[in-house]
Amino acid sequence: MVICTHPVSEFASGKRPKEPQPLKESQEESPRQPLKQPPEEVERKPAPDPESGPRLNWLFVDMNSYFASVEQDARPELRGRPVAVVPMMADTTCCIAASYEAKAHGVKTGTIVGDAKQMCPGLVLVEARHELYVDYHHRIVEAVESCLPVAAVLSIDEMACRLMGRERPLLAALELGRQVKRRILERVGPVIRSSVGLATNRYLAKVASDMEKPDGLVALTADILPEALRQLTLRDLPGIGARTEKRLNEKGIRTMEELLALNCEQAGQVWGSVWGERLWHWLQGEDFDLSETEHLKSLSHQHVLAPEMRTLERAWAVAHKLLHKAGLRLRAGGLWTSSIGLSIGFMAPRGENPPANRPSGQGLSVHLSGQKSLAGSPKQPETLANRFGAPRRRWKGELRLSECQDDQTLVAALSRLWASRPTGAGFEHPYFIGVHLNGLVADRLHTLNLFDGSEDGQSRARLQVAVDALNNKYGLSTLAPATMLTAFKAAPMRIAFRGIPELF
Ligand SMILES: [Mg+2]
Repeated sequence: MVICTHPVSEFASGKRPKEPQPLKESQEESPRQPLKQPPEEVERKPAPDPESGPRLNWLFVDMNSYFASVEQDARPELRGRPVAVVPMMADTTCCIAASYEAKAHGVKTGTIVGDAKQMCPGLVLVEARHELYVDYHHRIVEAVESCLPVAAVLSIDEMACRLMGRERPLLAALELGRQVKRRILERVGPVIRSSVGLATNRYLAKVASDMEKPDGLVALTADILPEALRQLTLRDLPGIGARTEKRLNEKGIRTMEELLALNCEQAGQVWGSVWGERLWHWLQGEDFDLSETEHLKSLSHQHVLAPEMRTLERAWAVAHKLLHKAGLRLRAGGLWTSSIGLSIGFMAPRGENPPANRPSGQGLSVHLSGQKSLAGSPKQPETLANRFGAPRRRWKGELRLSECQDDQTLVAALSRLWASRPTGAGFEHPYFIGVHLNGLVADRLHTLNLFDGSEDGQSRARLQVAVDALNNKYGLSTLAPATMLTAFKAAPMRIAFRGIPELF
């Protein structure tokens, strides 16, 4: 059923609706006036001009309860049942996705499994199958692309499409939104539901896609924008998490009304960064391309190791694999990194006092082939207690690099970091590994170093392009340095939720 307080004829006549509301399409029954007119009424009124009405620039697709829906699609016996997807079968871990049936009982992403079982008797726990979610992701992208090109994949379950020409008028855009949702159901699976948002910029299109779940279709047109945004809370805006909300509250901004009352300069001051001004422009509905100045500043992959993976050898294998993925993303994004970080969390036996921290490799300075002198700053491990009171230690090392993007240099740097980790009793059971590439620089801003122009540097770059092309086409570990391939055997496939899964 379509909900709309703007009868189509009002758009056709150019009349402004009295009480602007976001245009929503929902399966829920609604008392509001439907957008689709009964046939007899349609005959009496002139057909609406599809070119009339406000224009939109972006269509945003967000899958609903993605991992859980994929499981319900792949295993029909789970349909209609409360399902939680978990990284491993343990009460102490947390749910990484919940089906709508489980959400009805309050189970959501992040709920501790033990709590979820109590909240929702009959909850079916399913161990995550990331390869399957990536496979569905590719099929979803294909289904969307059968309607219109995907401009950006934002995560495994989110993508944005730019509307062009005849797709931009409201009625055409809404029809395209319906078509996208239908195509996903037809081509991917009958329980793979999505919410589609339409707006004048990508940011607002994402906001719109969040306004109605599951199975939503919401258009935030420029004319209804201020009114529609006022109905939201600060936390409904992407980029405003608990910390930002607290900071805004401290500055007297508690509601959307108060946020929207700021002018551009004030928004900049409240945020204390360019983000505030940017958000202000987005909330006005302005569409501008950030690609010239905006690129990822850092990227990281991290992984919590399953109990059987908590050995040094296997953790090293996982670190390798995470680096390989990060390298692929780096190069696919046309980026260069100027720093690499490795973080490791170590389990400490319960009931034992953590051993004294072992400083290691401080002020590390190493030289890598083809690179200038590197300075490193591995930190002392910190001892903390996790939420269950078990002692654990975290260590992070970082190396500055001259801008690079090839696996050979990155693996060498990672090996140096690994070698500088704390060792000995209390540092033998890693449970967490993170690989971070920081200080990313876009291709066009990349400073050529002495070696880029050398024959060796150029052939290394050509080799890397060929390797990436094969890996992108045939799978992550089709071709990789020998050390990585050995490592892959010990590391299971896992993907970061915010990753760019088309690479895998
Ligand atoms: Mg989603």
